[in-house]
Amino acid sequence: MKKYLDYALFLLAGLCVGSVVVWYISHGRCAEDRNQVGPNCEIGMVTGSQNIVPVAVIGSGPAGLMAATYCARSGLHTVVFEGDHPGGQLMETTWVENWPGMPKTLGPDLIKGARQQAMEFGALFARETVKKIDVTTWPYGIEMASGLKVNALSVIITTGATPRKLTVPGFNEYWGKGITTCATCDAPFYKHAIVVVIGGGDAAVEQALQLVTYADRVTILVRGEEMRASPQMKERLKAFKQITIRYKTEITEIKGDSSHVKGVVISSNGHHEEMETNGVFLAIGHLPNTEPFRNIVDCDDQGCIKVLGRSQCTSMRGIFAAGDVADPDYRQAGIAAGDGIKAALDAEDFLRSIGYSEQFEETVSQKLYSPEGGHGRKALNGIGSLFELKKILKEQKTVVLDFYTEFCPSCMQLLPILEVASTKWLKVGFYKVNAIEAADIAKKFDVVSVPTLLVLYKGDVIARMGQDLQPSKAHEFLKQAIETIEK
Ligand code: NDP
Repeated sequence: MKKYLDYALFLLAGLCVGSVVVWYISHGRCAEDRNQVGPNCEIGMVTGSQNIVPVAVIGSGPAGLMAATYCARSGLHTVVFEGDHPGGQLMETTWVENWPGMPKTLGPDLIKGARQQAMEFGALFARETVKKIDVTTWPYGIEMASGLKVNALSVIITTGATPRKLTVPGFNEYWGKGITTCATCDAPFYKHAIVVVIGGGDAAVEQALQLVTYADRVTILVRGEEMRASPQMKERLKAFKQITIRYKTEITEIKGDSSHVKGVVISSNGHHEEMETNGVFLAIGHLPNTEPFRNIVDCDDQGCIKVLGRSQCTSMRGIFAAGDVADPDYRQAGIAAGDGIKAALDAEDFLRSIGYSEQFEETVSQKLYSPEGGHGRKALNGIGSLFELKKILKEQKTVVLDFYTEFCPSCMQLLPILEVASTKWLKVGFYKVNAIEAADIAKKFDVVSVPTLLVLYKGDVIARMGQDLQPSKAHEFLKQAIETIEK
C-alpha cells in the first residue's frame, strides 16, 4: 500500500513541476503572475491570418522607439504605429540634459536620432492611430482610425500621456486663445507680455524659463506651499527677476475679450483677486493615454496601465506597456526608454515561449504587414557558390554580399538592416552568403570573420566592412559606398 502511496505522491509532484514548466514555456516571463488573462496563443493559429504584425508598438516616444529598436534588432518584424503625436512629449521639450552620454541635447533631436536608430535596425513606421484592439481572439485584431486592420502577435503600448487641463469658467472659451500647454511652441507669441504658468513641477519651471526670454513678466502659480520641481530646476529660476512665484494660489476663472485671454481670477489664502495676463501656460501634469486600452488591461486609479512585478507585462497575455502610460511615479524620458527596452525583452520572451522563431517568420513572410511608404523589408536571397555569384555579377553591376554564419548574433542583428536597405536601393543586388557553406566565395574575398559586408562594383570590391562591424553603422556604410559608385 505504502509503495502505491509513494508512487502516487511522486506522480503528483511530477505533475505540479511539469505544469509550472508547461505554464512558463507557454507564456514566458509573465507567467510568474497567474492573474494574466487572454485567449490561447498558439503559433499554429497565426498562419490563417493576413496583415500579420509580430510586434506592434503603439506610440513613438522614447519608450516606443527603444522597444522598436530592441525588437527589430532581435530580428523581429516590428511595426511602430506612431499615433497623432509622433515622437511624443519630447518633441515639445527644448533642452534635455539628463540623457545618458549626452550632456545637452534638444528633445526633438533626441527623438530623431532614436527613430533613425530603430529604422536602421529594421523597424517599420506607420502614420496610424490605434482605435481599438480586439482581444477576444489571438492574434489580436488592431483597428486603426483610418480603417486599416492588422493582426498582432504581441503589442507594446507606449502611448504616453496628454497634458492635464483645468476645469474653471472660461477655460473652454479661451483654450487656444491664450491658454496653452506648450511654451516651446507658443512662447514667441508673448513678446513683452504678462503671462502666468500654472503648476509647481519641473515642467512649470521649464515653461517659465522658456517664456522669460520673450515675456516681460512671468508669474508661476503654485497651489501648494512649495514647488515639487527638482532643486536644480528651482535654482535656475533665481537668475530671473522677471519671474515671480506665488504659493498657495489657485486659478478660479479665466477672463478675456472673447478673442483672447486678458486676465485670471485667483484665489490666494482665501482672498480672490483679478490679475492681468495675456497668456495662461498650463503645466499641471499629464493624464495617461489609455483610452483604447482601458477595457482590455488593468489600470490603476490614476489611469496608468498596471504592469506586473518588475516586468512590463500587463494583465493581458501578449500585451506589454512602457513609458508614461504605465508610470504613475517617475515619468522621465530615460526611464521610459529603459522600460521600453524591458517591454521589448518581455515581448520577445513571450513570442519565443509560444514557438515564434525566425524560421516561422519566414513561413508567414508573404502575410506580414509592412506600411506603405515606410521602408519595407525584403528577405535576401542566398548565394551558394562562386559559379552562382559569377552569374549574378554578369547581370548586376552593384552587389552587396553579407557573409554570415548560422549562430553569429551580430549577423542576426545585421540582417534586418540589409533587408530594409534592399528596399531602398532597388538597383543594388543584396545577397547573403553562408561563409562556411559557400567556402569558395569566402576564400575568394578573404573572408575570415563574420559578419563581413562587401560592396562590389563590376566584380571589384569597392567597400568592405568587417571585424568590428556594428549593425547600427551598416546603413551609413552602405549609403556612402553606393553614393560613391553613383558618382
Ligand atoms: P508633475 O506631476 O511633477 O507636477 C504637476 C504640478 O501641477 C504639481 O505641482 C501639481 O501640484 C500641479 N497641479 C496638478 N493639478 C493642478 C491643478 N488642478 N491646479 C493647479 N496645480 C495643479 O508634472 P510635470 O509635468 O511637471 O513633470 C512630470 C515628470 O516629468 C516629472 O517627473 C518631471 O521631473 C519630469 N520633467 C522633467 C523635466 C526636465 O528634467 N527638464 C522637464 C519637465 C518634466 P501638487 O504638487 O500640489 O500636486
